[in-house]
Amino acid sequence: MSFLSKLIPARFRKKKDPIEEVKNNLPKERENIKKSFAVYCNAHHNTNDGKLCPKCSALLLVVMAKMSRCPYGITKPVCDRCDRQCFGEAHNKAFMEIMEGSRRGMLVRHPMMTVRHKIMKLGVDYAKKRQNDAASEKAESRRKARVDRLKKRKEKT
Ligand SMILES: [Zn+2]
Repeated sequence: MSFLSKLIPARFRKKKDPIEEVKNNLPKERENIKKSFAVYCNAHHNTNDGKLCPKCSALLLVVMAKMSRCPYGITKPVCDRCDRQCFGEAHNKAFMEIMEGSRRGMLVRHPMMTVRHKIMKLGVDYAKKRQNDAASEKAESRRKARVDRLKKRKEKT
């Protein structure tokens, strides 16, 4: 298994790839989200010491609760790369704002964690791209088959 495909969350992997181990991404993702919230809130909402304002703690509670019910389970991808808007539209928007807005602060305060998270994100992006490529390849070959059939029909007449 190549280095890159190891980074791909299990649900994106091709069936024939041996799944080496089911990695539990949840605790790390929770840690990362909590820290991002603290960084963002401290920078924007007049809070400090990693404490959260009432609004941010409420949102964090929702996010944490929804995460335990994530349909992807413990092999879930990175939340801010997920195409399933499982926090609800308004919460999702606020969540993305915090994750985006805390990026620089996270890199300064928790560089290792940020780099690891970034690599996981790249893994998800790569897997998604591969999935899309495979899908458009399929569509293209279906289209070609249709054209061929039409041609053959024309030749007959
Ligand atoms: Zn806040």
